[in-house]
Amino acid sequence: MSNQEQQYFWLEEVFQRIKKSFDADKLPHGLLVVAPEQSGKKSFATNLAKSILCQASAQQLNKACGQCKSCLLVNADSHPDLSQVDCLTDNKGKQKKSIGIDQIRQLTNKLVETSQLNGWRIAIVMSVEKMTRGAFNAILKTLEEPGDNTLVLMLASSLQQVPATIKSRCQLLRLKLVDQQLSCWLMEAAHCNESEAFDALNQCQFAPFAALNFIQEGTGLRYQQLNQSLDAILATQLTPTEFLSEYTELEELLWLQIAKYFQNVQLSILNSNQEIYAKVPASLASQLYFELVEYNRAQCAGSNLQSSLQLEAILIQWFELGRKIVHYSAR
Ligand SMILES: [Zn+2]
Repeated sequence: MSNQEQQYFWLEEVFQRIKKSFDADKLPHGLLVVAPEQSGKKSFATNLAKSILCQASAQQLNKACGQCKSCLLVNADSHPDLSQVDCLTDNKGKQKKSIGIDQIRQLTNKLVETSQLNGWRIAIVMSVEKMTRGAFNAILKTLEEPGDNTLVLMLASSLQQVPATIKSRCQLLRLKLVDQQLSCWLMEAAHCNESEAFDALNQCQFAPFAALNFIQEGTGLRYQQLNQSLDAILATQLTPTEFLSEYTELEELLWLQIAKYFQNVQLSILNSNQEIYAKVPASLASQLYFELVEYNRAQCAGSNLQSSLQLEAILIQWFELGRKIVHYSAR
């Protein structure tokens, strides 16, 4: 079992289940894998591909042998029947923000070529939300008319960001991460206590590595401040203009953090576990989340729209809702 990419324990069960479906010939040609950022889904997808492509006849525990020609090629990132796309890096080594149509064309072309090893050809799209509109269109035909023995794995961190045309052509696989064991793992990895671990996991939608970063890099504090400011807008204690003067650096990360805030608001409404959101309509929280995600996508695709104005428009809706809530509670 040398050279085997680690399979994280929180994904082990679902891995076994999917591999069983594959062995029973019940796996669809398109699989949409949804799990939050930094939860290990890339390693999950690579391990699944590796185990399907593995040439060893008796696989133990459904896992790739790690030693056959196919496994070694996957380890070396040079398996001829496995293609993967993620955002490319530019000549300065910086990661680009989107996955373009040419990358997807290369990927789909590989799927119609003859298999070099055991008959299967597998394509992995590492981040569906980074695909441009052209890229989406380019993959539709492949999802509609998949060849024999082909598998397309599409990874997304949130289902809300995946277009309906893709959703309807893939089987959805949500990687569930709510697990008691995660707290124990995090307490050990981050040397923190139970309540810190639970807070971090909660804040990061139970994505283990995101929660670990959250604690280790002190991003937790920054999130907390941001969330408190957004709560203050809802409580009409802070105006959108004041907020924007506090957060002048509107980098991509901030957009995504604010989007995450609205996503967490939706979850809190569903679980009715936070008094402050009790009167917030879930539809509004979801709408604001969508707007942020859409703007972020437009920004990634190179839109020149002024981001501070767009953000202000979103925050004004949040503030106005707060005013209504305060007004009606006072009566
Ligand atoms: Zn093998």
